Amino acid sequence: MHPHDPEDAGHLPASPSGRVPQWVLQEAAGVTAPPEPWRGAVAPPRRRRGLWSGLLVAAAVAGAVALVDPSELPWAQRLPQASPGLPASSEPARPTDRPTPSGLLVPLGPPPLPPPVGGTHGFTTFQDDGVTPVAYDPCRTIHYVLRPDATPPGGEQLVHDAVLRIADVTGLVFTFDGYTDEPLTTERAVYQPERYGDQWAPVLIGWQTEAENPALVGDVVGEAGSVAVSLGEGPRVFVSGTVSLDSVQFPEILGGRDGAAVARGIVLHELGHLVGLAHVDDDAELMYPEARRAVTDFSAGDLTGLAALGAGPCVPEL
Ligand SMILES: [Zn+2]
Repeated sequence: MHPHDPEDAGHLPASPSGRVPQWVLQEAAGVTAPPEPWRGAVAPPRRRRGLWSGLLVAAAVAGAVALVDPSELPWAQRLPQASPGLPASSEPARPTDRPTPSGLLVPLGPPPLPPPVGGTHGFTTFQDDGVTPVAYDPCRTIHYVLRPDATPPGGEQLVHDAVLRIADVTGLVFTFDGYTDEPLTTERAVYQPERYGDQWAPVLIGWQTEAENPALVGDVVGEAGSVAVSLGEGPRVFVSGTVSLDSVQFPEILGGRDGAAVARGIVLHELGHLVGLAHVDDDAELMYPEARRAVTDFSAGDLTGLAALGAGPCVPEL
């Protein structure tokens, strides 16, 4: 929403009792299977006194899609030998739910070393061991596109700068693929060959109003998350995601005191969600659910988690 008077709870939905509802944090940990590719998550708003109290940089969403292992599909098997003279049309048909496997085995860059003194951090989604975080594949470039509608002045540069920062602290490599008119929704397909060709759909970043994205209700200024895909018993890996930023509140934030730094911090927080960080209760960290002027960049705990998220497995078969 905006840096409103903390005493003014009118922007938050009131429960029947008139109190601010206790929202449930579902960081999608342990989400393993369809049907819904996305599980919504809204961070609990913590009301604190101060100018920025209630300005939530909240809402991580994550999802999972389980693909069928190629060895279990007829298309992976050799078709009967074509008769001599027939066209060589016996290539197994490719699956239609994923791009050509990357085949990439070498990380594009070394993950940064975590700070010597760690700190509080958490992850949105874990592998089956319950400990290893799900991450993007460090062997492939993460493509992103912008939906330009309603971008506030300076908003695009804000996003590009924040992407550079998240790349720096994860070792993951991002590239900007340009603009899209694809609707910004967490229901989007992770593979859209008609729009993006033979690759996983790029990360989609855009600006929305609360009316367009109900997750931005009240003081929530951003929502972000990624979809994890697994193949057979292989590891889950994020292949695409979305970042929704509040087109109404950002101009107000940017126009406020320390606006540029605070706005950048909010975008960084959302990109933290995108690559797999969850909220923490430690208000020294950027992944605390509220924006604060005192913390506008990643702290030690955030950086520790981000380094781990840059060191995920390469999954060449996807
Ligand atoms: Zn958040």
